[in-house]
This record gives sequence, structure tokens and C-alpha cells, in this order.
Amino acid sequence: MKIICIGRNYSDHAKEMNASLPTSPLFFFKPDTAILKTRDFYYPEFTNDLHYEIELVVKISKVGKHITVENAPNYYNEIGLGIDFTARDIQQECKEKGLPWEKAKAFDNSAVLSATFLNKKNIDLNNINFGLALNGETVQSGNSCDMIFSIDYIISYISQFVTLKTGDLIYTGTPKGVGPVKIGDKLVGHLENKVCIELKIK
Ligand code: MG
Repeated sequence: MKIICIGRNYSDHAKEMNASLPTSPLFFFKPDTAILKTRDFYYPEFTNDLHYEIELVVKISKVGKHITVENAPNYYNEIGLGIDFTARDIQQECKEKGLPWEKAKAFDNSAVLSATFLNKKNIDLNNINFGLALNGETVQSGNSCDMIFSIDYIISYISQFVTLKTGDLIYTGTPKGVGPVKIGDKLVGHLENKVCIELKIK
């Protein structure tokens, strides 16, 4: 299983990062060891600026390569919620040196995943509400309608380069409002007004 993450897929987030808008989907990977297995997250020692990024997550249901946009709906059935934890200080350093971001993105437990996934038949893919609260205060609210690249386009694009396999996860990018966490914080993520992630920073 692999985890593919899309960067800068919401223009309001690209703007808050002072980043230009991508003309094609920007993607990077996290290994399967990045999946958090518990509901406790331990603040890593190597960063002083750990950021949350709440994202819709697509679960791939069928192996595929060179998938067309029209055929992309046949390759997923479920949408979940995730947090793409990012060591922003390390990412900034990598960006400045023109180096890959993996050190800032792919570390153990950096991919939080909801236990609940919604069947795509029961939701409007162009109007999925999601968000994140930090210590009870909403810090991020997003809607899939604001994605620069749609789920179908992302699947098609990635599959031109990389074979998608059953169980692969695609983190589809974060809306604006990313920010730091500290030990003791509580994060609560919602998907279509249902709480799907509850996480304590330890
Ligand atoms: Mg992200």
C-alpha cells in the first residue's frame, strides 16, 4: 500500500503559503509506516513547527494504469478524512535548498486516517464538507468544490506515472488554515458534519 499526497490543491492554501498555483497536480509520497495506528500522536523530536493539514482521502479500489478522467470513478468507492502532518520548519529548509520534502512529510505517524469512510454513492463528490477543530475552535473548513484538480483528474494524472493499486490512499490537499500544534492539543476532524478523527497531541 502506498500513500500519495497532493500539494497545493486549494488556491486559498497556496496563497497562505505564498506558493504559486500548480498547472498540474503536484504529488509526493508517504510510506505505509506513516499511518498512525493509535489515537495518540507523539510530537516528534526533530521539529519545532509541526503543522496539521486536514484533507479528504480517496481509497483506491482497483489496480489501474493510464486511467482516463472518464474512467476514474471506477477506481474508487470510498472517501475518508486524514491529517497530513508536516514538519513545516524542515519543509521550508528543504524548499530553500531545492531538496525533496520527504523528511518533512513522510515520517512515522505523519498520516492520520479516519476509521470511517463514506461510500461515494451516498455523497455529492462536488460538495463534500470537511474541517478541523483545534481545542474546540474551528481552524480549517473545506469543501471539495474548491479543489483545483478534481478527484477524477488526480487519479487519471497520477496513473500516467504510477500504477495505482487496491488499498492505495490519496490525500487530496488541504484548504487554508494550516497551523502549528503543541503537546496537550486536541484535534477533531469532521467529514460531512460527522466527527471522524479525534486526536490528542502528547
Ligand atoms: Mg497536505
